[in-house]
Amino acid sequence: METLITDDPQAAAEVIRRGGLAAFPTETVYGLGAAIFYREAIEAVFAAKGRPADNPLIAHIADESEIGQLSAEVTPAAESLIKAFFPGPLTVVLKKRPEVHDIATAGLMTIGIRMPRNDVARRFLAAAGTPVAAPSANLSGRPSPTTWTAVNEDLGGRIDCILRGDPTEIGLESTVVDCTGERPVLLRRGAVTLDELLRVVPGVTASTGGELEARSPGMRHAHYAPRGRVTIGETPHLGGKAAFIGIGEPIGDFSATMICRDAEDYASKLFEFFRECDRSGIDEIVCRPVADEGIGSAVMDRLRRAAAK
Ligand code: AMP
Ligand code: MG
Repeated sequence: METLITDDPQAAAEVIRRGGLAAFPTETVYGLGAAIFYREAIEAVFAAKGRPADNPLIAHIADESEIGQLSAEVTPAAESLIKAFFPGPLTVVLKKRPEVHDIATAGLMTIGIRMPRNDVARRFLAAAGTPVAAPSANLSGRPSPTTWTAVNEDLGGRIDCILRGDPTEIGLESTVVDCTGERPVLLRRGAVTLDELLRVVPGVTASTGGELEARSPGMRHAHYAPRGRVTIGETPHLGGKAAFIGIGEPIGDFSATMICRDAEDYASKLFEFFRECDRSGIDEIVCRPVADEGIGSAVMDRLRRAAAK
């Protein structure tokens, strides 16, 4: 299949309206979009990515008025979080309406909903005229794409369209909060931090291993990982070609280095650096740990997952 590469949000939205697949930029990572009520399109998302059927998609909306199409039970906690953080890098999980296909939510009774704040994403979603189901626009198991060229590398020839935008601002996937229970539960860390959530909804708890897997099956899949081995620390262990990423100068010599200014900069550079290391045949990527606070917590979460592979 030939993949249309365009700068025009209207052209990409037209692909969605016809039931096709269009990748698009957001402030977190690039997403692979499909009209959420179009069953064949949702199936095609899983096929194009090689995504396991038990990993649910997030519904992306242009306006809060679309939430009613997806969920009839917006809890008070969700209402507060939506008011505080939409549009932005936060996904709220709510009970889904029966009209939302089970394949989109991987058989769960719930649906993750997010309203991106990226301008190109918003124009695209508004023109699509429907909530758009979208996972990250990478082949399953690879690092999420933060540039349109990374999308093209994984999915060029496999999807109908890539809406070309700038490199993503944040570089890590959205914060995910399950709002269906008595207390909201943080399922995935992202740019909206636990402290920020707690300021809005005092009862939020951070989920741990077993509970996380039960509530958010997708989190157990290998994510975010390059082909080379990821080591959290200062020095390599393997003896092959090694690369370094972290805040400040590396200790010793590396074949490739990425020096970051702070945790935000680290977040925005991490996934593309993983891909760059894969392109140049790096055997081991040494990642300097960051303080486990603010977006640093999300960076550490992704590093631990990548290192565990
Ligand atoms: P991706 O956008 O590729 O990072 O994938 C979406 C991720 O969001 C999934 O892997 C889940 O961890 C989470 N997610 C999406 N929908 C739900 C849901 N209904 N319940 C819990 N977690 C969800
Ligand atoms: Mg993903």
